Amino acid sequence: MSDPAFRFDLAATCGAARTGTIHTPRGPIRTPAFMPVGTAATVKAMLPESVAATGADILLGNTYHLMLRPTAERVAALGGLHRFMNWSGPILTDSGGFQVMSLTGLRKMTEEGVRFASHIDGSRHMLSPERSMEIQRLLGSDIVMAFDECTPYPATREQAQASMELSMRWARRSRDAFGDRPGHALFGIMQGSTFPDLRAQSAETLREIGFDGYAIGGLAVGEGQAAMFEVLDYAPGLLPADRPRYLMGVGKPDDIVGAVQRGVDMMDCVLPSRSGRTGQAFTRHGVVNIKNARHAEDPRPLDEACTCPACRGYSRAYLHHVFRAGEIISSMLLTWHNLHYYQELMAGLRGAIAAGTLDSFVADFHAMRAPGDIPPL
Ligand SMILES: [Zn+2]
Repeated sequence: MSDPAFRFDLAATCGAARTGTIHTPRGPIRTPAFMPVGTAATVKAMLPESVAATGADILLGNTYHLMLRPTAERVAALGGLHRFMNWSGPILTDSGGFQVMSLTGLRKMTEEGVRFASHIDGSRHMLSPERSMEIQRLLGSDIVMAFDECTPYPATREQAQASMELSMRWARRSRDAFGDRPGHALFGIMQGSTFPDLRAQSAETLREIGFDGYAIGGLAVGEGQAAMFEVLDYAPGLLPADRPRYLMGVGKPDDIVGAVQRGVDMMDCVLPSRSGRTGQAFTRHGVVNIKNARHAEDPRPLDEACTCPACRGYSRAYLHHVFRAGEIISSMLLTWHNLHYYQELMAGLRGAIAAGTLDSFVADFHAMRAPGDIPPL
């Protein structure tokens, strides 16, 4: 990369899959990387040091939520997002575009940007490429995302083309507004829905503008895994090989494995933390619903091989009890376990790519989770 303070070193490839390191002034990000989501300057139910203990190198923060509450200006006055939330590692912020577009009925989109009403108090706001860059700068984000329109799914070819072209004009404005900020990276976002030629056009425009990394947007929006993988069969290859590739909003463990196999380097999703709060645990053997009565008297941990605090110290029976009783520790333990599981999965993928054994790793991954859970006692 042009900026020596922010660069991507590719260490090994295995088929289309890649492993490497994104170097940032706030520390390295090992790829493929999974980024836990800290929507409102917190990964819900977790202390930042606990998130780091799961193996996460980088967090994601949400521009939309932070601009409304406590506001980017207040975060800046308090020393920036890292200091505010007590996380010293790298932070990626989204552009806010995805959330404002989801405010059906409360928003008005024009060439300039999106006017919308806050879901909190109805106050009126504007998000544009320029305003999004300003907010992400005030937050002190290490990886800034270009402002784009996430094309809804399904879209006709005409809709997908118009939406992608708007996103490309906004990508140019984002690049101009971002300026030159050593040690901070700006990622462009590819759109084009499920149309290969639109994806190619989008990639070409983004390469021409020039970004420090590239995201594949407009996926994980209801198209289903098969359609998503179809796009990922060719989309990562349209992007420069020497820059990180980020698949936004993905996903379930098998989505992540499939995306990494197809050449994705970074992902984020609320799933491990949100599921933790609703009693779902991801394990090597599949998804465990801890509220299920079968766990009420089970003295075994969620996963005997897992080294997270929930598995080392607590039985399924206890986790079942505290979930049913609505105790706060239920969210804490299940979120920790889920984030730990996701980071172990990423470490396994990185190791297998480096060793050239990704195919057998993936085969074991699928075979092991096929039963859905260990047999009941
Ligand atoms: Zn565990």
